[in-house]
Amino acid sequence: MYRPGRSFLYASATAPIESRQSYILGGLFDFLKIKVYFYQEDFEKEVGIYRAMEGCPGIPPLLATGRVQDGRYFIVVPNAGSPVDEITDEDARQIYDRALKYMHGKKYHHHDIHRGNVLRNANGELFLIDFCDVETACLASEPCFDRDWMHMHGIKNA
Ligand SMILES: [Zn+2]
Repeated sequence: MYRPGRSFLYASATAPIESRQSYILGGLFDFLKIKVYFYQEDFEKEVGIYRAMEGCPGIPPLLATGRVQDGRYFIVVPNAGSPVDEITDEDARQIYDRALKYMHGKKYHHHDIHRGNVLRNANGELFLIDFCDVETACLASEPCFDRDWMHMHGIKNA
């Protein structure tokens, strides 16, 4: 039902549902992910990034936000697929073209790209998620995870 993260958890919207009527809703909710935050600041940071990246093809759209009964904040996003087993150079190119270059265009750096944060849907489209470690763009003279990652996969700076 819950998949623990560092400072958040993903709640399955289907798990608590048992009735016949809810079964139908369960089918609908297979398309949604609810991410519940332990800290309000993480929630606010990610919501800010999602809103700034609205319309970006490789970042799931933010569908809704809210609070659960204990006061924790959550977001609702589409279920954009499953984490990839590995990130090939071809995958990396797609991640860059569909998501990372848009982030860099907004002066955001992801800084935590790994296979757990890259989702592949049934059509083979890749999505970049988890913006808790996002920082404003590094200076060219500074060490930068994103640039190292791009270099590792043979992606030249635009
Ligand atoms: Zn950077």
